[in-house]
Amino acid sequence: MIRQLIQNCRIPGCHGLHNIVLHGTTIEQILPSSDGGGSSISDMTGMIHGELEENHGQYGFIFDAKGGLVLPGLIEPHIHLEKALLLDRMPGDAASLQEAISMTAALKAGFTESDMIKRSIEVIRKLSRYGVTRLRCHVEVDPLLGLRAMNSALTVKEKMEDMMEIQIVVFPQEGIISAPGTADLMEEAVRMGADVIGGITYVDPELDEHLNFTFELAARYNRPLDFHADFSLNPDDEAILHIANKTLEYGFQGRVSAGHVTSLAAMPRKKVKLYARKIAEADLHLMTLPATDLYLNGRADNDNTRRGITPVSLLRDEGVNVIYGANNIQNAFTPFGNGNPFDIAWLLAHTAYMGSEADADTLVEMATLGAARAMGIENYGLQVGAQADLVIFPVQSRRELIIERPRPVGVWKNGRLLTTRVEDGECHEISYR
Ligand SMILES: [Zn+2]
Repeated sequence: MIRQLIQNCRIPGCHGLHNIVLHGTTIEQILPSSDGGGSSISDMTGMIHGELEENHGQYGFIFDAKGGLVLPGLIEPHIHLEKALLLDRMPGDAASLQEAISMTAALKAGFTESDMIKRSIEVIRKLSRYGVTRLRCHVEVDPLLGLRAMNSALTVKEKMEDMMEIQIVVFPQEGIISAPGTADLMEEAVRMGADVIGGITYVDPELDEHLNFTFELAARYNRPLDFHADFSLNPDDEAILHIANKTLEYGFQGRVSAGHVTSLAAMPRKKVKLYARKIAEADLHLMTLPATDLYLNGRADNDNTRRGITPVSLLRDEGVNVIYGANNIQNAFTPFGNGNPFDIAWLLAHTAYMGSEADADTLVEMATLGAARAMGIENYGLQVGAQADLVIFPVQSRRELIIERPRPVGVWKNGRLLTTRVEDGECHEISYR
């Protein structure tokens, strides 16, 4: 196993420059850089282990970060790979959530495995170039698509494992009760290797039946859960409360996530606070998906158009782990997106009123540590002994990162340098095979 030395990088929350030593797939040392100066020991508690050898000859590879900001590999916690990059197949723009679902359902009928694999890999490469080293994708099963998307996702997961660690959520987009046969397909998908049980609260007529099935399946196969929930501006949509109660009933605290949850934006604040406490008690992880939420919500409003972003700061103030994701890239649900998580952070900063320096720190934390917590990832972070997933950006602070949203100068996955940006300013993928 080779040792790599990453010199002169900035660590969030620490003064001065630091050196990081990687040994094989692990972070072995993090030390103040000898010429960087200014590092305070109290900032580095628990991070300094041993002395950095002066002899650089021991390193198989030395990378000078030139004062760039280092973060643990970014995490995309909610994305649909197999229905990404469909703009050139769409008959028009979707004017509502229902239209986006039905337009995509029609296109889905024509998806072949090789088509899904090709587009999924293209998206993964985009994400990797922006520093993402792990993702959670929702993979659809329904009687028409069968297990084709699941087969494709498993192929992609294996093929791309050196670049991206993938969690697969088996996702019943067309419903479990509304689309008979889906329940069996979901169970088969879990046997095939789905990591997470998915659910959707706004497609089936009987929420209770839907929740009972998904929680039972999760309990039987010991898998976490991830729901698409309350994607509307109806203040009476309160599936999230049912999910929280069911989570407590099954003792699944900390293992259940929910995306969208935009109906909370339509409720009176007092009520949202009460709900937030219940969500925190169940330790649910909420994933706001602002690009889709803004694009599809409020379409029926003629005046004072509501935008439908879940109240991020209120929920976080009540102790809820709120993070963000892309959801979709270039399709009927989200016609934009290039895979840069900080584009989503920038959008959220404006629409959720998160403009301060502390908010920028929070936005970066959401795409790293917060997402790792939601996805149950261990051995993660900028600490000795953690997996060597690192990304270095050509900026000096987290606020500058949200402002500039640049491509990284280096991305390491499991100790392997995947992408680097050299003098011409272009990103170059490094091919090991
Ligand atoms: Zn989604």
